[in-house]
Amino acid sequence: TLAYLERIGQHQALNAFITATEDLALKQAEAADARLAAGDAEPLTGIPIAHKDIFCTDGIRTSCGSKMLDNFIAPYDATVVAKLQKAGAVMLGKLNMDEFAMGSSNETSFYGPVKNPWDLNAVPGGSSGGSAAAVAARLAAGVTGTDTGGSIRQPAAFCGITGLKPTYGRVSRYGMIAYASSLDQGGPMTRTAEDAAILLQAMAGFDERDSTSVDRPVPDYRAGLTQPLDGLKIGLPKEFFGEGLSSEVASAIEAALAEYRKLGAETVEVSMPNLKLAIPAYYVIAPAECSANLSRFDGVRFGYRCGNPADLTDLYTRSRGEGFGREVKRRILMGTYALSAGYYDAYYIKAQKIRRLISDDFKNALSSVDVLMGPVAPSVAFGIGEKIGNPIEMYLSDIYTIAVNLAGLPAMSIPAGLASGKPVGLQIIGNYFAEDRLLNVAHQYQ
Ligand code: GLN
Repeated sequence: TLAYLERIGQHQALNAFITATEDLALKQAEAADARLAAGDAEPLTGIPIAHKDIFCTDGIRTSCGSKMLDNFIAPYDATVVAKLQKAGAVMLGKLNMDEFAMGSSNETSFYGPVKNPWDLNAVPGGSSGGSAAAVAARLAAGVTGTDTGGSIRQPAAFCGITGLKPTYGRVSRYGMIAYASSLDQGGPMTRTAEDAAILLQAMAGFDERDSTSVDRPVPDYRAGLTQPLDGLKIGLPKEFFGEGLSSEVASAIEAALAEYRKLGAETVEVSMPNLKLAIPAYYVIAPAECSANLSRFDGVRFGYRCGNPADLTDLYTRSRGEGFGREVKRRILMGTYALSAGYYDAYYIKAQKIRRLISDDFKNALSSVDVLMGPVAPSVAFGIGEKIGNPIEMYLSDIYTIAVNLAGLPAMSIPAGLASGKPVGLQIIGNYFAEDRLLNVAHQYQ
């Protein structure tokens, strides 16, 4: 813990942390020492981790990357935080992120952009950018992230680490500030698949306080890691390898697939014709849900309040106008529009129908193969400032990750070499609750 705290101090320029919790970390580390001495240790006892600042932490600021919650001290722990603490993990602090998890570059954070440890002029990806940068720069042994449309996998890819987005319902969302509730899922971000297995083991499981959490036993995620891959069938969705994919990313992915063939796997092409509709469907559904979820930030119950309101309407409008950043406001406007009477059928219902078609595409593809593989993102990490002025271009950087959330499937990003000196992520997508298989497939490559 001391070594990590020292490193965090040395690398403040990365801007990975919003809040460091040194005193708490040292106290927890002492408690972990006592547990180790008493022979009561679990795999995570004394392991220094950090949380994306979207997870509520009792008595500690939980900002969600927003001015709106800059002064919010959560009165309770998220289930994920409580479970990891119970397993003995030490909390080093809270990590920077895009505001309310809306973004792909960590540039929408109220606390400023995070820098990619591989290239300080490049973005770390988003929205879990602080999480990915912290693991890549060895500021924490492992961290938590959340993934609504790619926010664990894309930053993991850009920073050359391992990220796992579990099946929707596998990890409790209780105390995880909601962006788009039907898509949000928390998961681990680590150096290796084995570390991801250890963190997921502590995070996963039924929680009666999350009505969408699934009551299903949690397997031993480390037990199957060493299983050989002979006969593994890998599907390659041809829509993942078409126009828009940079050639250097394509070559790195090809090299990784060749490695899998050497390990005994077989690759076959599959097709998912509705994949091209994933971004338009997501950018109706996610903003629609966000417009509802973010209505609670009204300047009254908690969070930012404007100065000297003239009346109640002025209080609402200025608190929200001043407290939210541009991207969040854009999404609230889009979502409110898509849900309004007269447009609801044309946009929201239509997007829900597309969502079903995309799930069916995955179901078909996964009926004949064990896992799907492809790139996580069309390019390596782009420059800070390069895309922030062009939302459409920014949204396109999630083209390979978003469909997975619409279907609720588990997926990983694992490091697959470098292109132009920057990391490339290989995406592995599995069937519902096949996290153990994904971890096995990832571990064999690593
Ligand atoms: N980049 C996508 C968005 O901005 C996904 C974000 C996420 O997964 N939280 O919505």
